[in-house]
Amino acid sequence: MKGTFPIERFVQLRTPFYYYDTTLLRETLDTINREASRYTNFCVHYAVKANANPKILGIIRQSGLGADCVSGGEIRAALKAGFPAEKVVYAGVGKSDWEIELGLENDIFCFNVESVPELEVINELAAARNKIARVAFRINPNVGAHTHANITTGLAENKFGIAMEDMDRVIGMANSLQHVKFVGLHFHIGSQILDMSDFVALCNRINELQEHLVQRHIIVEHINVGGGLGIDYQHPNRQAIPNFAEYFAIYHKHLKLYPGQTLHFELGRAVVGQCGSLITRVLYVKQGAHKQFAIVDAGMTDLIRPALYQAYHKIENISSEAQSETYDVVGPICESSDVFGKAIDLNRCQRGDLIAMRSAGAYGEIMASGYNCRELPVGYLSDELI
Ligand SMILES: *Cc1c(COP(=O)(O)O)cnc(C)c1O
Repeated sequence: MKGTFPIERFVQLRTPFYYYDTTLLRETLDTINREASRYTNFCVHYAVKANANPKILGIIRQSGLGADCVSGGEIRAALKAGFPAEKVVYAGVGKSDWEIELGLENDIFCFNVESVPELEVINELAAARNKIARVAFRINPNVGAHTHANITTGLAENKFGIAMEDMDRVIGMANSLQHVKFVGLHFHIGSQILDMSDFVALCNRINELQEHLVQRHIIVEHINVGGGLGIDYQHPNRQAIPNFAEYFAIYHKHLKLYPGQTLHFELGRAVVGQCGSLITRVLYVKQGAHKQFAIVDAGMTDLIRPALYQAYHKIENISSEAQSETYDVVGPICESSDVFGKAIDLNRCQRGDLIAMRSAGAYGEIMASGYNCRELPVGYLSDELI
C-alpha cells in the first residue's frame, strides 16, 4: 500500500522537498500524551535533533512535550518555538562555554553532564552568574542495543557518558561544588531500537545503580532514560504510530522508582519519523549494462541516512500505477554512496514522475547539507498544501 499524498499540489512545487503529514503527527503526539499520562510521574521530552523544522517544533510544543537539546542552537530553536525553559534539558559530550551560558541564562531544567571537566566548567560559569545549575549525570550503562553500530551509544567503548565505576566519585564531587545541584541520572543507549529487551536491560541496570545509591542514602529527583524507540521503516503504513503503550508499560513494569521520583523520556524518531516523506522527481531513467537506474533530483545531501548508515527507506512512485520494474534509485551527487536503494521495485518510472521516500521525518531535513553547492530542501506541512 502506498502513502496518500496531495499529488495535484505536489506537481506545482519545486523538488526535492519534505512533506509532513500533520494529522499523523498530531495523532502520534496525542497517543504519547494519552499513554504516558497513565503513569503520574512520567514526563516526555522531544529530542529536537530529530527534526527542528520550526513549524514541526511549534506543533510539538503545543502538545505539551518538553525539549531535549544537544546544542546551544537547539536550545535557541526550542525556546523560539515556545518550549518553556523549565522543560528544556541539555545533553552533549562537548558543550561550549557559550552553550552552557545560554542554558544558565535561561534557567533550563537540567544539564545532562558527561564528564568531570564539564562539571567543573558548569560550576565556574554558574558561579560567575551567581546561579546554581541543576545537573544530572549521563551514565554509560554498558548496555548494548540491537541496532546499527553507528547509533549505539550506551556501550563502554562509546564516547558518551560517565563510566559506572566513576559515578560515586562524580556525585561526591558535585556535592562539594557550590554552584551545581545534583538532581538526576541520565541514560541513552541508542536509536532505532525495536527489541524491547534492550530497554528491559537498561531498566535492570538502572535498578542496580539506584540500589547502590540508596544504600548511600541518595535518592535523585529524576531518572531520564533517553529515547531510542524505533519505527517500522519497511512498512510505514502498517503501524504508523509506534507502540507507545508497550514502550511506557515496559518502563513501568521493569524500572523501580523511589518515592517522589519522576521518569523522563527523550523521544525523537518515534515522534516525527513516520509523518515525513522526501518527495523527489525522476530526472532520467538510464539503462546500465546490467540494470536500470532511476536518477532522481534528491541526493544524499537531502537525506543522508542511506549513505551514512545503510538505512532503508521505502521508496514509492506516487505518479504511476504502471507495472513494476526494478531500479537502483540514485541521486545526482558526485559520490558513489549517493544511492537511496538498490534493486527496488517501482511502478515503471518516467522522467517527471514523483517519488516518495517514506519514513523520512526524523534525521532527514535536519541533516541536509549544501555539499555540491546544493540548496537545502524546503519542508511543507500538509496543512499548508490544502
Ligand atoms: C538522539 C538522542 C535522543 C533521541 O533519540 P531517538 O532515537 O531519536 O529517540 C534522546 N536523547 C539523547 C541524549 C540523544 O542524543
